[in-house]
Amino acid sequence: MTADARDCAVGQLVRFPDPQLPDGAEELRSEVRDFIAEERANGTVMGRPDSWLSGWDRGFSERLAARGWVGMALPTEFGGSGAGPIARYVVIEELLAAGAPVSAHWVSDRQAGVSILSHGTEEQKRAFLPAIAAGRCFFSIGMSERESGSDLASVQTRAERTDSGWRLNGTKMWTGGAHVNDFAIVLARSSDHDDRHEGLTQFIVDLRAPGVRVEPIRLLTGEHRFNAVHLTDVLVPDNRVLGIEGDGWRQVTGELAFERSGPERFLSTLPVLTSLVRLLASVSTSQHQQSVVGRLVARLISLRAMSLGVASALQAGASPDVQAAIVKDLGTRFEGDLIEQVRVVSPIAPNRSATIGGHAELLAFALLHTPGYTLRGGTNEILRGVITKEVTAR
Ligand SMILES: Cc1cc2nc3c(=O)[nH]c(=O)nc-3n(C[C@H](O)[C@H](O)[C@H](O)COP(=O)(O)OP(=O)(O)OC[C@H]3O[C@@H](n4cnc5c(N)ncnc54)[C@H](O)[C@@H]3O)c2cc1C
Repeated sequence: MTADARDCAVGQLVRFPDPQLPDGAEELRSEVRDFIAEERANGTVMGRPDSWLSGWDRGFSERLAARGWVGMALPTEFGGSGAGPIARYVVIEELLAAGAPVSAHWVSDRQAGVSILSHGTEEQKRAFLPAIAAGRCFFSIGMSERESGSDLASVQTRAERTDSGWRLNGTKMWTGGAHVNDFAIVLARSSDHDDRHEGLTQFIVDLRAPGVRVEPIRLLTGEHRFNAVHLTDVLVPDNRVLGIEGDGWRQVTGELAFERSGPERFLSTLPVLTSLVRLLASVSTSQHQQSVVGRLVARLISLRAMSLGVASALQAGASPDVQAAIVKDLGTRFEGDLIEQVRVVSPIAPNRSATIGGHAELLAFALLHTPGYTLRGGTNEILRGVITKEVTAR
């Protein structure tokens, strides 16, 4: 291949499709805004940063689902709205920008439902998908372990065959929501092979089953959102194997594409910028403050166009893995930069003990969440590895 041809091939790889909003997207957006305004008036939408991680509210999830805004990527046959990824995108970006409490249904809506739809049996689809779309069935992700975060293929949790199913032993780490959710999709080693990517299987594990012990891992804020989940002789029936036995690696890799591509990778800290702008609107501002806000908004607009491009590609049936990794790398770094820059130009210092929802408290809360932005869902170093591998293969 000539150098020009290679440049062209690399250019294709990092080109983002034009974001296309379907007919009706703006009407949908204003319906969501009206819903959020009602919820805000009732005190349920508090404008919190990182609300897809911290805002766990079963009632809110059910009310949202009643409007048809959970399970939008699931077909109507299984209780979803069949509206597709772009309509879902419009809904979730409004919810995240408003800091709505979406974390109860987040994983079920974003990936567990889609994964069960792709790999599950008919019985599993009927058992789980309508309940997910109704905002009544919540899932955790059981991938990471102490030595298997970035190196997921080194998973140690064992699954051994029994007469009627499987026996699971091991410990999953960083399992978001396991103390309040219903099920976890657990990746476990079901047979040994020289190739570590072989012999992994996904299981739908009932988080209240005997032998499941959930131990809190606290965030810097003291919040209990994460857990170590200890599995001791947990029995999982055959009908709770998700997909093909031994095919867990391929299934999990597909799931990660959903996990990495959404607007939650650059909107987690937007409520803090909104709060700063409100604050600055009532005082006289310096040129420096204005230019910091302007640059952050410009980056936000570019990221949104790129992320919407990824969603358009997904809607068209493509697999924009590299573009998704680029958005996640740039987006999660933006989330941290936003907090740092807002902190520098803010007339008020971060203060964890200040009035809840006030600028000082929001800023402190988001600042203490910062270490997670570039780690969760795959670290930035790993994402850059994904991008580099594809680019150098051209
Ligand atoms: C807020 C938060 C929420 C999470 N939620 C969940 C969840 O719900 N379920 C779940 O299963 N997991 C969850 N995780 C786990 C997350 O996916 C892992 O933390 C992440 O994949 C990194 O793994 P690790 O922590 O084991 O770090 P390690 O893999 O040990 O990495 C440590 C450092 O080394 C770097 N590194 C590792 N390998 C390489 C390499 N080959 N090249 C270059 N650098 C490398 C990493 O980038 C990182 O900086 C969550 C994590 C966080 C922080």
